[in-house]
Amino acid sequence: MKAGQGVRWGLRAAALLAAGLGCPATWAADPPAWTAPNKPFRIVDNVYYVGTQGLAAYLIVSRQGAILLDATLAENARQIEDNIESVGVPLRDVRLLLSNHAHADHVGAMAALQHATGARVLASAGDRWALENGRNQGDTNYGVQPFAAVTVDEEVADGQKVRLGELELTAHLTPGHTRGCTSWSMTVNDRGTPRQLLFLCSITVAGNTLVGNRGYPAIAEDFQATFAKLADMQADIVLSGHPETTDVLGRERRRQAGEEDAFVEPGLLQTMVSDYRLRFEQQLRKERNAAR
Ligand code: ZN
Repeated sequence: MKAGQGVRWGLRAAALLAAGLGCPATWAADPPAWTAPNKPFRIVDNVYYVGTQGLAAYLIVSRQGAILLDATLAENARQIEDNIESVGVPLRDVRLLLSNHAHADHVGAMAALQHATGARVLASAGDRWALENGRNQGDTNYGVQPFAAVTVDEEVADGQKVRLGELELTAHLTPGHTRGCTSWSMTVNDRGTPRQLLFLCSITVAGNTLVGNRGYPAIAEDFQATFAKLADMQADIVLSGHPETTDVLGRERRRQAGEEDAFVEPGLLQTMVSDYRLRFEQQLRKERNAAR
């Protein structure tokens, strides 16, 4: 990195974070919300929010144990464990650990949780290297962010169903933000109404190099295919790894205030896809022009 470049990237990073689009962040201090405690709550059916104020972790509970989606930062391990127990699930009942994508802010505490629960870790082939090597893969403007390496017990393929008790989640590979970025869908029973719930993987560029990325040459094509794929999908409820991008905590406050359907927004996925696709295309044009 050349002198001066750090400042420029830092400003861009700050702008991204201010816009709630952040993911990489350890070039500067992490946002305080990422480690700020949050009281866990039930979102819908058997789906619970057990993350911090700024980083989501979702617990999906079946009659035969629970699935944890995302672990957040390493220093949050104890908080996430306490949150799981406080919604009535003993740690040993967590059977499967899944992730949104292999970046430190979502899987930093995964190794600790793997140890604490004895759960099996399922991940896409695309994120396996990053998880098992404990670092992000591909070229970025923020370098390498290490985390404790995670042993992947089983790979999941696109469209694969993951079952636990009566639960069934479907893996949707949505690469770009990382090689193995995985969105997960399931049908929930929302007070008698079946709804499609999508745990959306991050679709922000967020510091990834789009042009000439030696560690991830197909990144731009992957992003484009992911936007096209998500544009054809339908979801009634969308939940994200960075909770502010789908206003998870704001919706919970609205529900507490009496708005029963605060989490239901069938148009949200398409709005997010077109918004992030536009930002991606702007960034791609900028990098292509700079590379000329
Ligand atoms: Zn990320």
